[in-house]
Amino acid sequence: MDVQALTDAKPVGGAGDAAQPAFLDRLLEAGLLIESGVPGLYGRSAVFESIADGLNAAVTRIGADQHAEVLRFPPAMGQRDFETSEYLKSFPQLAGTVHSFCGDDRGHHRLLARLEDKQDWTDQQEPTGVVLTPAACYPVYPVIARRGPLPADGKVVDVLSYCYRHEPSLEPTRMQLFRMREYVCLGTPEQIVAFRNKWMERGQALGRALQLPVELDIANDPFFGRGGKIVADSQREQKLKFELLIPVNDGAGPTACMSFNYHMDHFGELWHIALPDGGVAHTGCVGFGIERLTLALLRHHGLDLSRWPQPVRETLGGV
Ligand code: AMP
Ligand code: ZN
Repeated sequence: MDVQALTDAKPVGGAGDAAQPAFLDRLLEAGLLIESGVPGLYGRSAVFESIADGLNAAVTRIGADQHAEVLRFPPAMGQRDFETSEYLKSFPQLAGTVHSFCGDDRGHHRLLARLEDKQDWTDQQEPTGVVLTPAACYPVYPVIARRGPLPADGKVVDVLSYCYRHEPSLEPTRMQLFRMREYVCLGTPEQIVAFRNKWMERGQALGRALQLPVELDIANDPFFGRGGKIVADSQREQKLKFELLIPVNDGAGPTACMSFNYHMDHFGELWHIALPDGGVAHTGCVGFGIERLTLALLRHHGLDLSRWPQPVRETLGGV
């Protein structure tokens, strides 16, 4: 394999450069991502993981002053908690549920016969009560709610999870299963706004330390349907979501690699998360797209890590 040819980063956005294979093809050819036959579902190489680990370590370092409680969840939630989150109201198109075979011997024969006849067998599967986690912070709210009122100075939780979103795409930055690292803040509106402002500064500073061309912008989530447009417009108007954008994909606009979210009392109401005075807690989160940041680094500094700028490698703890 000609590593050199793969490592010459091409100017981002120049889709018309026929001499260079597309970014996804270069990543696959270099073995950084490994195809599974399903768009947006990839294996990762040791090199890819070393960058992901370096990013996570950098986020931990800059978040040390948060004294966050570290919580780790598997990439799935119970159906009941998922329902309470109202995710299906906003993003039914993105949710993924886990189904299993729950039948007897007769059912098993039917399943195998379907397979044998190359017929659809998935209608033989039944819901398990397990739903894939759509955002790393979702499992946090019920856990904190159950503990009773928040401490007076609020609470910050550190989470990292693979997340599932049904958005198959050939853009390497739009995966179906990807990692989201988050700090989640629960407290008064003032505490959440201060938290989010701090992290918008820190997110940009991290981007600059990684020598990436970053741009902060107001954003909205992809709320479903006609009614969703109204919700999305209101989210933008109220400036509830900001994103850190970095150009990554061929011939496309920049990609959101971090997000800074203020949910107001949405989750506090749904989960009955209480302030010390009994009022409803507000929440916010900062999310780092681990795969997207890794891909941004590979795009801008090339596929050969030994040629990356030394300060960038140091920021990542010496990858
Ligand atoms: P969001 O909850 O949509 O703000 O997502 C938080 C972060 O996760 C985003 O800023 C991205 O970096 C990352 N992310 C969201 N969707 C995807 C996806 N389909 N593939 C990879 N990363 C994603
Ligand atoms: Zn979140």
